[in-house]
Amino acid sequence: MNKLIYLLLSTFILISCNVESSKNKKIKVREPNSFAIVIHGGAGGIKREYFNSEQQEAYAHKLEEALNAGYAILEKGGVSLDAIQAAINIMEDSPLFNAGKGAVYNSEGNQEMDAAIMDGKTLNSGAVAGVNHIKNPILAARVVMDSSKHVMLSGKGAEIMAKSYGIEMVDSSYFFTKKRLNQLRKIQGKEKLKLNHTAFLIKNELIDDHKYGTVGAVAIDKNGNIAAGTSTGGMTNKKYGRIGDVPIIGAGTYANNLTCGISATGTGEYFIRTVATHEVSSLILYKGLTPTEALHEVLFNQIEPLGGEGGMILIDKNGNVSWDFNSTGMFRGYKKSNGELKIEMFEKTE
Ligand code: ASP
Repeated sequence: MNKLIYLLLSTFILISCNVESSKNKKIKVREPNSFAIVIHGGAGGIKREYFNSEQQEAYAHKLEEALNAGYAILEKGGVSLDAIQAAINIMEDSPLFNAGKGAVYNSEGNQEMDAAIMDGKTLNSGAVAGVNHIKNPILAARVVMDSSKHVMLSGKGAEIMAKSYGIEMVDSSYFFTKKRLNQLRKIQGKEKLKLNHTAFLIKNELIDDHKYGTVGAVAIDKNGNIAAGTSTGGMTNKKYGRIGDVPIIGAGTYANNLTCGISATGTGEYFIRTVATHEVSSLILYKGLTPTEALHEVLFNQIEPLGGEGGMILIDKNGNVSWDFNSTGMFRGYKKSNGELKIEMFEKTE
């Protein structure tokens, strides 16, 4: 009899615990064949008043174009790696964002770009750092992943490899934009190291390069495979040779089918020091945090106390999309196979 009561009691406890945990954690299991893509275009002091309606529209339009490019690949049954690559290519080709064509200048007046890509199924990854002749650095990261036994190549070596695999190369003048150069000159003129992430006014002109931020994408395909990628020009007036968090797997970019895929943007040094994207994945895997809880923990309890700023986008293994940031805003959007589409730029709406 005692045994029966014990059995009933423990079954009851077990059931109520499960209900409780799924209620608290809002676990949504993945629908078969569902897919999703989430992107960011950088985080920082992005406020509505900094943009006229035309500029807001231009950003929203480019974000949607990038989402659609990735979505179309997923819809046709393509793999998440190809989807994020397509989305990132579009943002790299746009001067609106700090990646590819819109990359910011370093202290020497040159662009040095970083990019990384990771496959959550195999944990294969590829990255390039400090390149300035590759039109779309994310493609070179993919070549490093697919065609070398290395994870990261830098500078000339990365460019030689990209070229040998037929990746489009450009003269570094391709990356020239007057706006970015002006940003550098103004910052240097004020002898101020500008780390791309705090808006300030000089003679009433907004020096707000962080609003044209780094780009990133995460996708889950019909087979449930997750991929993440990030591409950036880094931070305006960064030291020659500086490498940020983006190409460092586990810092700015991470994907693992056991948990999630993540792409980060922000003051990179803090994302390196906290191994931010891997930390989020580990908090989910080992501590049972929800993606929302894990993002909050890393951004607000680890990065912020050190003085860092930025945001992250995430898709978990069930296809749920999350994002968070401790900056004023972040260019962001997602599109899911259930028809949900969201594009936002400014303060959090939920
Ligand atoms: N995280 C990038 C870097 O530190 C910059 C950014 O996200 O805007 O290079």
